[in-house]
Amino acid sequence: MKSNKEKINPMELIIKKSELFSMYGEELTDSEKERALRDFHARRPPRWCGLTVHVTINCPFQCAYCYIEDMGFKFDGPRPYPLSSKELVYAILSNPCFLPSRHGTLIAIGAVSEPFIFPSKALEYLRELAKLGNPIQFSTKQYISKNLAEKIASIAIEYNTPISPLITIITMQKYDILERFAPPPEKRLDSIKNLRDAGLKPVLFLRPLIPGINLDEIEDILEAAKDSGAVGVVIGGFRVTRRIINRLESLGLNTVLIKERLKIIDEKQRNVPLPEKKIAMNKAKKKGLITWASTCCANSWNANVPCPSACFIDGPCTKCPNFCSYPADTPNASEVIKALQELNINAKIKGPRVLMLNYPFKGADMLVRNISRRSVKVVKKFKRSISLASN
Ligand code: SF4
Ligand code: SF4
Repeated sequence: MKSNKEKINPMELIIKKSELFSMYGEELTDSEKERALRDFHARRPPRWCGLTVHVTINCPFQCAYCYIEDMGFKFDGPRPYPLSSKELVYAILSNPCFLPSRHGTLIAIGAVSEPFIFPSKALEYLRELAKLGNPIQFSTKQYISKNLAEKIASIAIEYNTPISPLITIITMQKYDILERFAPPPEKRLDSIKNLRDAGLKPVLFLRPLIPGINLDEIEDILEAAKDSGAVGVVIGGFRVTRRIINRLESLGLNTVLIKERLKIIDEKQRNVPLPEKKIAMNKAKKKGLITWASTCCANSWNANVPCPSACFIDGPCTKCPNFCSYPADTPNASEVIKALQELNINAKIKGPRVLMLNYPFKGADMLVRNISRRSVKVVKKFKRSISLASN
């Protein structure tokens, strides 16, 4: 099948990264550069959704199902991320796993806190990140006013950078139990409308689906989001820890259906099996919403790029209208090998698969997915040696 997407040039991404790194380096003082290089954004490995960028530390919304406390963050004392926007971008450009540009790494804002607690900080970060051109996605429960939506849209236009808004709504009826410190779902529906009116393509983020708690509301939420202007929906699962179960129970919620799906519940985040996810996706499709099983795909669709996580090879591809396909959307094997050698990564390519023969840094496999738009397998002994070294 012929692709309607621009062809990826792996070497171009590497050259661009080096140019941008030098450019930002010239704009910062030595102490600013040191601060940026010490920051976790400089070495955080990308996840399936992309490279997560933090705008806020801690989150006052205190959602009952939230896992940030299990990650060392708090439900009080929110504060803006300490780096300036240029320091943040410099840190990201120094990350060995990151590649700039529309074909580069997906950027995901809002993983461990609400990014729009401090709207001016969020806009400052968005503006600087947009200069890189990467597909940017933010997830939010904050009310996005008309004015704020227009500001976000104007950043996307000014830098020709795709920005994909994800608006989380998971309940209309139990909002005052599950998310009582966040703006109510009605306000979030207004956010969807405002973002759509501003020219962006808001997507409903229907996650988590919690057995016994919000599954009966799926249809109503999909309907309301569609009516407000959502173009699609990302339907996601639910991860629990002992702390989350205790919190839900302390709020009087029945967790029997969650517990009976898991063999172990402890401090580790564990995925609750969710056969209902497929049913929810079918319902969303019937309502005319584009459906995705992973946020990376909504971000890729919005940017019209083949999914950098290569979901269309071995991920949860829902065959959305982005129509990623092999080999039309994957760069030539010889160009990929050349780019990987430049990054000191040895690999073999066989059709849509890459076998990594070394693993020079944490997250290198996601980088290889990004460059090659193929599935990646790492020779086990290398992956083990790097994780032992980084412990
Ligand atoms: S908004 Fe997100 S980060 Fe904040 S408490 Fe709720 S789930 Fe956690
Ligand atoms: S076609 Fe598949 S892999 Fe590509 S963005 Fe859509 S769902 Fe994801």
